[in-house]
Amino acid sequence: MNPRVAVIGGGWAGCAAALTLADAGITVTLYEAAHTLGGRARAVELEGATLDNGQHILLGAYAQTLALIERLHPAGEALWRLPLALEQPAEFRLACPRLPAPWHLVTGLLGAHGLRWQDKLAAARWINAQLRDRSRRDGLSVAQLTRDQPEAVNRLLWHALCVSALNTPPEQASAQVFVNVLRDAFGGRRADSDLLLARRDLGTLLPVPAAARVTERGGAVRRACRVTALDVSDAGVRIATRTDASTYSHVVLAVAPQHVSGLLPRSASFAALSGTMRRYRYQPIATLYLQFDPAVRLARPLYALGNGPAQFVFDRGQSHDQPGLLALVASTASALPADWTVQAERQLRGIVDAGPPRWRRRIVEKQATYACVPDLVRPSNRTAHPRVFLAGDYTEGPYPATLESATLSGVQSAAALLESL
Ligand SMILES: Cc1cc2nc3c(=O)[nH]c(=O)nc-3n(C[C@H](O)[C@H](O)[C@H](O)COP(=O)(O)OP(=O)(O)OC[C@H]3O[C@@H](n4cnc5c(N)ncnc54)[C@H](O)[C@@H]3O)c2cc1C
Repeated sequence: MNPRVAVIGGGWAGCAAALTLADAGITVTLYEAAHTLGGRARAVELEGATLDNGQHILLGAYAQTLALIERLHPAGEALWRLPLALEQPAEFRLACPRLPAPWHLVTGLLGAHGLRWQDKLAAARWINAQLRDRSRRDGLSVAQLTRDQPEAVNRLLWHALCVSALNTPPEQASAQVFVNVLRDAFGGRRADSDLLLARRDLGTLLPVPAAARVTERGGAVRRACRVTALDVSDAGVRIATRTDASTYSHVVLAVAPQHVSGLLPRSASFAALSGTMRRYRYQPIATLYLQFDPAVRLARPLYALGNGPAQFVFDRGQSHDQPGLLALVASTASALPADWTVQAERQLRGIVDAGPPRWRRRIVEKQATYACVPDLVRPSNRTAHPRVFLAGDYTEGPYPATLESATLSGVQSAAALLESL
């Protein structure tokens, strides 16, 4: 059989896999259950504006994601690169000078506002030691890893970074994955720690142009088309939807981890994988959009927030040309109080007095990411069956649930499939 591949799931992993296969000359059919491509990083139309299901931030270290975005937007206008700076007004300010890594961070830490001298030294020594120490931190949580750090350093820096990067509370989060992120962001080039903001909605950034490339190469993109069953035999993979069924030579299953076991064929060869996926737990992320008068503008494109449910506020007027629109993000949002939006607006007033918003909308993604706990079993892109491959932010890899994990996994699953032909 000539290779004819189905990719199930049009999130960033599925779109990266489909794009890689299509560019390698394979005919691909991409199935997406929703009307919109992008999965957990997609565009949402609200109040006449194009928003995202959640404000995202990318790191300079996201090598695979940035390479794909550059391929799809060769003019380079899709992202806004900001050198690492974190400011939580009246509490903390860190700005990293243009020095080679990790000296930019060490110097930034020593010059930070809001920390005592001994705290700065402790933080600088700690990050240096973490970047050098190549031993594994198996079984350890971030809280345990950082237990000797001063309270202020953990609150303003390490634990705040853990919550935003791993979307898992420090007491539960994997120290090994946290160190992987620190190492990639601070242990290589200075530019790896840059923060990147999208200039456009998340769909336009990657999923939509990737899918367009798939159709240009002779493939098909089936939106609003949920796959209901998947049967694997030596003859091929039969994929059923509510309206039809087709047979393919191979399938890349690129759904979110909570949907994997429901789609896997009920055979003994997939039982272990199914069991692994059922043990995953999830953490929410909530985003509050506030539309103020278009004249409202923050002094910086983003600020860290303390003393309340939200950790960051982004000025979409500056990044997305949506004047007066602010996005407040609350990660690890499993225990948000009923009045969290009121509290988040109070946090914002510590930065800007913008008056009452014209409208406010919140989006709570209940299963935004899997809980990135120590020693989490993450499956390989290859499965027990040579025709079935996995792609998604949860497969084997160094990163937590992020865009980079998703695209890396998509490209790797496509490479494994191509290698098997
Ligand atoms: C609010 C929020 C904020 C985030 N912030 C950041 C951030 O700042 N930085 C960062 O790097 N990451 C962030 N993330 C994480 C990042 O968005 C995810 O890790 C990534 O998008 C996961 O992509 P994926 O392709 O693996 O999975 P998904 O995006 O979940 O894609 C799976 C797709 O499969 C489809 N599907 C499911 N079942 C079927 C079926 N039966 N048939 C057909 N299709 C099906 C789904 O509709 C979905 O489109 C955030 C996530 C959320 C929710």
